[in-house]
Amino acid sequence: MTSSDRSAGPDSIIGILGGGQLGRMLALAGARLGLRCQVYAPEPESPAFDVVRRITEADYSDEVALARFAEDVDIVTYEFENVPDKAANFLSSRLSVRPGPKALSVSQDRVVEKTFARECGLGVPDFEPVDSVEDLTRALERLGRPAVLKTRRFGYDGKGQVVVRQGDSPETAFAAIGRQPAILEAFVPFEREISVLIVRGVDGEIRHYDPVENVHRGGILRTSTVPATIDVGLSAKAALMGTVLAEKLDYVGVLAVELFVTREKTLLLNEMAPRVHNSGHWTEAACHCSQFENHMRAVAGLPLGSTERHSDAVMQNLIGQDVENWRRLAAEEGAVLHLYGKRDQRDGRKMGHVTRLSPLTRS
Ligand code: AMP
Repeated sequence: MTSSDRSAGPDSIIGILGGGQLGRMLALAGARLGLRCQVYAPEPESPAFDVVRRITEADYSDEVALARFAEDVDIVTYEFENVPDKAANFLSSRLSVRPGPKALSVSQDRVVEKTFARECGLGVPDFEPVDSVEDLTRALERLGRPAVLKTRRFGYDGKGQVVVRQGDSPETAFAAIGRQPAILEAFVPFEREISVLIVRGVDGEIRHYDPVENVHRGGILRTSTVPATIDVGLSAKAALMGTVLAEKLDYVGVLAVELFVTREKTLLLNEMAPRVHNSGHWTEAACHCSQFENHMRAVAGLPLGSTERHSDAVMQNLIGQDVENWRRLAAEEGAVLHLYGKRDQRDGRKMGHVTRLSPLTRS
């Protein structure tokens, strides 16, 4: 079979850039459909390496390794949004990269992302680009305090951001994020945080999972609860916002959209992730087809699976030493435990998650 014959269907070999737990769970879900996966990651201890047919352990700048990877696989997807532009362009000149490069370039830069969302007609926190202390001083005058200063690129789990409060000096705040190109956002006194996961197929079919309510501690997601405490109108609006973004990006795969619910019950986009997302881990236990399986279905050109939820769910991340409770969690009735096989337990490191199910309260 030639490689193009395999580019849409369960015989495809899917290349996954990134070897973390998301890559691992994508590969596991793909395997259920007969898809074979090859993971490309620079770190020798990548959790996804344990569960795939072949690995490429190489840097993302290694064009020899990238070229060989492009030969080995039929379609490329990724589990993190900071895939270097050069690697994404190199691969997409040879084979399909799904989601496409536009989704990557928009989501890699917070200013580009919020500008794009605003152009799509979506609500976003008011913001200003910041390249210097002078910019920051001016932006603080316009947006007021508190405000949130974030690096434009490479921020995650609350890293690369600082809240600027009354009395804080712009110089100190800019230094705290490493004097990098940044965005200043108006502080949103949100009532709650939710996210919605959209999946879009190669044929443009769109489905969405029920929005979930997220609680963060220290910038890291702790729990995701479904259903979120929002009414059906707001839930539909969240799904519509995600749908608009997926369509405008001509997106293929799972797209995660994080939103603030304001006290006035409006929705503002915080950020989007062009990949499966931690706030969607509950879907593996509470839905007919998980976010991981639906992402693999979409990128492999298979029909999308049902996003319906058969249970209510609370997903709890196991961070750092939380994982030491694995034995109790493994024995807990009604709890679905997932461990990522990471040998090295560190503070703040996501080691696994557990989803607790309960009967469906409303659909
Ligand atoms: P982010 O990395 O942008 O998702 O931010 C991490 C967390 O910081 C969010 O989940 C919020 O809890 C908080 N946060 C981020 N931006 C804002 C904002 N503009 N106003 C209030 N809180 C924010």
